[in-house]
Amino acid sequence: MITVLRIGHRPFRDKRITTHVSLVSRAFGADSIMVDERDEVLEETINKVVKNFGGNFKIETGVNWKKYFRDFKGIKVNLTMYGINVDNRIDEIRGKTENKDMVILVGAEKVPVDAYLMADYNIAVANQPHSEVSALAIFLDRYFSGKELSKIYEGRMNIVPMDHGKYVKFIPDEGESMKLLYNENADERIIKHVQVVYKLAMAIGKCTDADLRLIAAGSLLHDIGRTKTHSIGHASVGAEILRNKNIDDRVVNIVERHTGAGITKDEAKKLGLPEKDYIPETIEEKIVAQADNLVAGDRIITLEATLKNYNEKNLYEVAERIRKLNDELSELCHKNLDDIASEID
Ligand code: SAM
Repeated sequence: MITVLRIGHRPFRDKRITTHVSLVSRAFGADSIMVDERDEVLEETINKVVKNFGGNFKIETGVNWKKYFRDFKGIKVNLTMYGINVDNRIDEIRGKTENKDMVILVGAEKVPVDAYLMADYNIAVANQPHSEVSALAIFLDRYFSGKELSKIYEGRMNIVPMDHGKYVKFIPDEGESMKLLYNENADERIIKHVQVVYKLAMAIGKCTDADLRLIAAGSLLHDIGRTKTHSIGHASVGAEILRNKNIDDRVVNIVERHTGAGITKDEAKKLGLPEKDYIPETIEEKIVAQADNLVAGDRIITLEATLKNYNEKNLYEVAERIRKLNDELSELCHKNLDDIASEID
């Protein structure tokens, strides 16, 4: 674990620079930042970035830095222009922190002499005055040998790299998902149905390690295509609506693969759908598809009732796939999905 210890922060004067120290800490691979002065606005800003862009980065302000630095069980680094050049020590520090935590202290104005004395390493990024932001970025980049730059965060917002322009795909939260439905003029029946599917899918999701953000968006949006057609093609139509609104591919796939327990490529051809497999693959895709199977209109029904409906239409293979999916998810939850459903109010 790597913690950055930011000292000498004055909320009014250093607002922007400490924000940048925190953002650099997160983006260049540190796990947390401790800031000496209490600053709720800073905490809120950074927590919002984490919520949107992902990862588990933590911020704490109002920390007694001297005590924290003195008592830290691990390797203590002080970044200072007076120290030893980073390139002469970075391999040694990397080796020593293989099984140990590291704290990296960065100052604001004058850094008290205690910091130099308590540190295991006083490290310079060039023996020239510059800034805590640049020093920290270069130190972390040398430490991780550049690998931190390609770390995947799986946030709510994910930037799609472009030669020109800006392209951000996102996972809509509950409010944004409902807004998308209303903007497409979803009627009352669709709204009531997706809300019940959402409740059931979230209840199933909570007993697995599924990403609940994807389940929430996927379940609320799974029938957005019904605003255009009630045919079996509504899943593909819905997926296309969402693709055009820069919705995260993982949510789009939930929507596209939610019908029955999926549609094979052969079945898709017969149904006149674009020829490809629509079988749910990820845990989130499976949960939303099955929650939808267990909701008729705005009512939760049992697995047996669902299977009966399909068997009566001679769709035996689909019924069998639904049963298998139900078994798989019930096993994951260590609980029958019918029982999970019966506990929902
Ligand atoms: N004059 C201050 C002092 O007594 O340390 C330094 C002020 S500087 C604007 C703020 C922070 O930037 C320092 O505490 C240090 O962490 C970092 N810093 C600036 N230049 C650095 C360098 N060449 N190498 C490492 N860190 C540096």
